[in-house]
Amino acid sequence: MSIPKSYAALQGAVTKSFQEELSPTDAIELLRTGHQRFNDNTPLKRSRIALLEDASEGQFPYASVLGCIDSRVPIEEVFDATIGDLFVARVAGNTVNPDILGSLEYACKYAGSKAILVLGHTSCGAIKGAWAGLEDGNLTGLLAQLKPAVETIRATRSDEATAENIDETVAVNVQMVCDRIRQESDILYDMESSGAIAIIGGVYNVATGRVTFLAESEA
Ligand SMILES: [Zn+2]
Repeated sequence: MSIPKSYAALQGAVTKSFQEELSPTDAIELLRTGHQRFNDNTPLKRSRIALLEDASEGQFPYASVLGCIDSRVPIEEVFDATIGDLFVARVAGNTVNPDILGSLEYACKYAGSKAILVLGHTSCGAIKGAWAGLEDGNLTGLLAQLKPAVETIRATRSDEATAENIDETVAVNVQMVCDRIRQESDILYDMESSGAIAIIGGVYNVATGRVTFLAESEA
């Protein structure tokens, strides 16, 4: 049975044995097939009672997603995921800091998650704020994390915050965050290098509801 079919056949939550048998490629396949169900509007139906019973005994999520706080991108729903499926970290602009990296390290090294998806989205308000040079309270430091992507687009495309440039910045930021995970986390770098996990990027289009997966991890 294929991995997505095995997943669909689960009565309750993802089990330890199911998680252990997954490769990083399998975990990405589960994200892709879950997203396909979301696009097809054919979500799986699981018994809430069975999910909670399994959840009470532990968690064995297949993947981790680092997303933006944007209300238009409900992460679990976008991947037709349920209780026990995903670790989800959310921060405006889907960037990283030591706490987010520590969370992802826990998710992968200690809880067995096989893939990290950094998920940006079109029309991102945080990216727009970084383009506008918004400085206010704690936003100043947060938006500074997004500036390198903005500067890349300014240097390679144009100095105008057009919708196209915003969305290009979103994609560049996703790639930069993937690279920062590798550079700033020895644990995750080593896990990717050894083939234990994959680190990939994606961009969710808020108008179409579709995720475009960016170039996959070379691991
Ligand atoms: Zn956003």
